[in-house]
Amino acid sequence: MTHNFSGEYKIARQVVTTGKFSSDADTIVKGLKTLMSEDGFDDARTDALKEFQKAINLGVSLKKLFDSKLGAAERILAMANGYSTGKSGARSFAGSADVSAACAALKLLLHTEFLAKKGASGFWIVNTPRKYKDWPSLELASLGGDERALLARLAFKDGYFSASQKKNIADGAQLARAQLQKALAHLSGKGKGAELVKRWFETEDTSATDLAKITSDLAVGLKKIENTLMSNRLIFTDCPFYRGDDMEESEAFVFSGAWKDKQKVVYIEKGFFMKGGNVLSGRANWARVIVHELTHSELDTQDYPKDNSYGWQGINPKDSKFKGNKAVLNAENWAYFVVDAANGLSQSERVEALKLP
Ligand SMILES: [Zn+2]
Repeated sequence: MTHNFSGEYKIARQVVTTGKFSSDADTIVKGLKTLMSEDGFDDARTDALKEFQKAINLGVSLKKLFDSKLGAAERILAMANGYSTGKSGARSFAGSADVSAACAALKLLLHTEFLAKKGASGFWIVNTPRKYKDWPSLELASLGGDERALLARLAFKDGYFSASQKKNIADGAQLARAQLQKALAHLSGKGKGAELVKRWFETEDTSATDLAKITSDLAVGLKKIENTLMSNRLIFTDCPFYRGDDMEESEAFVFSGAWKDKQKVVYIEKGFFMKGGNVLSGRANWARVIVHELTHSELDTQDYPKDNSYGWQGINPKDSKFKGNKAVLNAENWAYFVVDAANGLSQSERVEALKLP
């Protein structure tokens, strides 16, 4: 049985805090413990993450373990206490379930990075090996006794996202942050907030009282999302057990209900990077997707009505599908409100999103 990202983080943190590692890696493990706080990666300890990654990838460390002629996969295994050294100094494999669990935690951290521009808040990207079909803890779970299989799986280097895709995600998140700021300024009464609220949320039967409530809900809700984008805690990853599945074709999603992540996690899938599949494209679309998903996870919005709730399907609040003041339930209306408030829609894009059936 698999789990969400927060579940994988919890398992990895448990291993890092209580597991047994090679004493050659004491300093590095100590650093990783401070990086992995109970509620998520601590951006103040990215130095510890980098030091660990340098030690594994380049063998850069004062300690013997990392200075030897080992490859990155063997260094992980050595750090995870997977070798014993005989009297003659010869290494031999000493695998176990604990060793594979330690390897999995280290592999997760090896594929984690914090992307931030100088002086700005940043975002975590967890980019597990492209060839994995599940989280590292499950991918490696049964391999504790098999050195060759373990090393082969640890050697998978390429992450799911390419370098340019990681940049796309960070660019989208940065634009979303800037757009939210502008949307909030409009809502504070200075700009054309009232006009925009009507454009995206006033249904056939939305009263003036409803509009006032929607306006204040928007201000509170969007502020919450802005805070999440500035928190240095937001995590982007794909969902490895959906690789090859229909879900991989979506743009992005967040888990809800029993599966809801304890941490702030947005799952980015293949569709996110596709061109021409939506009203908006490129950076503007990446920002829209991120705001849309965060309204789900932070504000419990829905895709309403089911299967007919997206910008390309038309989300004019005057559409009878939103009867009963329902446009405010729909994540996509929130996302378009934000883009529009930030002047991010061309005339034709606005017309397309506001088309009526
Ligand atoms: Zn949605």
